[in-house]
Amino acid sequence: MEFSSKLLENAVAEMAQLPGVGKRTALRLVLHLLKQPESQTERLVSALHSMRNEIRFCKKCHNISDVALCDICANPRRESELVCVVEDVRDVMAIESTGQFKGVYHILGGKISPIDGVGPGDLHIESLVERVSSGEVKEIIFALSSTMEGDTTNFYIYKQIEPFKIVTSTIARGISVGGELEYADEVTLGRSIINRIPFENSLKQ
Ligand SMILES: [Zn+2]
Repeated sequence: MEFSSKLLENAVAEMAQLPGVGKRTALRLVLHLLKQPESQTERLVSALHSMRNEIRFCKKCHNISDVALCDICANPRRESELVCVVEDVRDVMAIESTGQFKGVYHILGGKISPIDGVGPGDLHIESLVERVSSGEVKEIIFALSSTMEGDTTNFYIYKQIEPFKIVTSTIARGISVGGELEYADEVTLGRSIINRIPFENSLKQ
């Protein structure tokens, strides 16, 4: 791609760093911004800047939040003894949109994946075990993807919390979950949470 301006080239190069944005799309977006009033670009830059600088992560569940304790953890109407373990924030959004889950969450921040160099220490597993050991949790629901990494992660956590003798369950298999959790339709996802099965049963399959 030949650019008539170094400034344009830099902007396109930065935009193209975003996932799913190729150079062509990046160029289209940048040219679009140039056509709009300057104030629009300023609002975009300011929103991104504030998000990056001010965003916090809930000290309990690691959800993205504007305050120390996220809205879900801080809500007294949520069942704090029922904890759904998910990979990332998108899964929380997907499950919340079903309106079927009244418990709280624990966001791991990924899955154990030796190939990608992600070990248990890179995820929020220790804080989950702490939550369980404090006695505040009665049931853990695993809602990770049914991939090898998801299974490995579930099993690792299961072994860590086994001594505490709490209920462990997993959302019904057979539906697309995890990485695809956000794409599963709300009815199916909601139903799979209600019809969750004991985690031990999932191991026998
Ligand atoms: Zn929280």
